[in-house]
Amino acid sequence: MFFKDVIGHDIIKKRLIKTVKDNRISHAQLFTGQEGSGSLALAIAFAQYVSCLDPKESDSCGTCVSCQKYMKLIHPDLHFVYPVATTKNITKDPVSDDFINDWRSFILDNPYQGQEQWYEYIGVGNKQGIISKNESYKIIRKLSLKAFESEYKVMIIWLPEKMNQVAANKLLKIIEEPPPKTLFLLVSEDPGKILPTILSRTVINNIPKIDKNSLFNTLKGRFLISNDELKKTVQLADGNYLQAVDLLSEEENNLDNFRMFTQIMRLCYAGKVIEIIKWVDEVSIKGREKQKSLLAYALRMIRENFMLNLAKGQNEKIIQLSGEEAEFSKKFYPFIHENNVYEIAEEFNRAHFHIVSNANSKIVFLDLALKIIKLIKT
Ligand SMILES: [Zn+2]
Repeated sequence: MFFKDVIGHDIIKKRLIKTVKDNRISHAQLFTGQEGSGSLALAIAFAQYVSCLDPKESDSCGTCVSCQKYMKLIHPDLHFVYPVATTKNITKDPVSDDFINDWRSFILDNPYQGQEQWYEYIGVGNKQGIISKNESYKIIRKLSLKAFESEYKVMIIWLPEKMNQVAANKLLKIIEEPPPKTLFLLVSEDPGKILPTILSRTVINNIPKIDKNSLFNTLKGRFLISNDELKKTVQLADGNYLQAVDLLSEEENNLDNFRMFTQIMRLCYAGKVIEIIKWVDEVSIKGREKQKSLLAYALRMIRENFMLNLAKGQNEKIIQLSGEEAEFSKKFYPFIHENNVYEIAEEFNRAHFHIVSNANSKIVFLDLALKIIKLIKT
């Protein structure tokens, strides 16, 4: 991971790089910030820089043997510890090493992900992960070995607040009397839950929320929404990259649902079967989750338009529609009335049920469209 992959935090990056250049790297450091701020990404980028054989002015070189391995997180002197729990396959005494391949792909895919995503990724169900006593024995064993290839052995501990008491005490001992050339990077979201004696031995890097400009520039052009909408979302996400991406995906999904829904309603009303088949082709290659989301969206639009019809297009207070939805509905609501609303809703519900049960989506959506052609003209 490079410093340039970490969004914002320019001042902290510079400060970290300077400690390497001045040869005064603290052997135990805490990176602490809220979820989605990039603390873990920053710690990994720092470790890569420290181990790089040809570090550049503002980033590691990316081409030396060390960087090559760091970029895949497979460097033999880079160790990770993170909370884990039992799963279907690992039923007893789980430790980080049991999940190392999952961990690598999880982080390489998106280092901003949080605990919830991690537990879901490794399939621990509703259990909370911990860093156990067994893990601390592993840590001691790993650090008692000499560095294989680098000057430094690096141990990155993600969420040290999840350590049980015994493990925390063992870690404290190692940090107090560290093996030579060992670098501990603790990455915490809740430092108040770490042993104060551990905290007092670490240099603390407070990682603030990502600044709005950096977040905006990173996300610009990656989603099909306007710059104004993006600005609003960045404001809402409050320096949390993870949340910004979630919000934008949802927004993008809503826009797509609106487009697909209005399209099929117009085509059904006009009875344009050939174009309906094209529409069905488009929807059938979307994933099941997207298809379900579209059907749920359609049901909401049908409901809102029926309400609008009952109110004869007035009483907008009870109607929950966005600007462009309201604009479309002005012309659409007369077609959703008490003589067809139940059947239409039932057809969408039925389609939803079939999609959930893994039916052939092409057949489901074509069937649905053909029914709507009839019902919309009732
Ligand atoms: Zn390098």
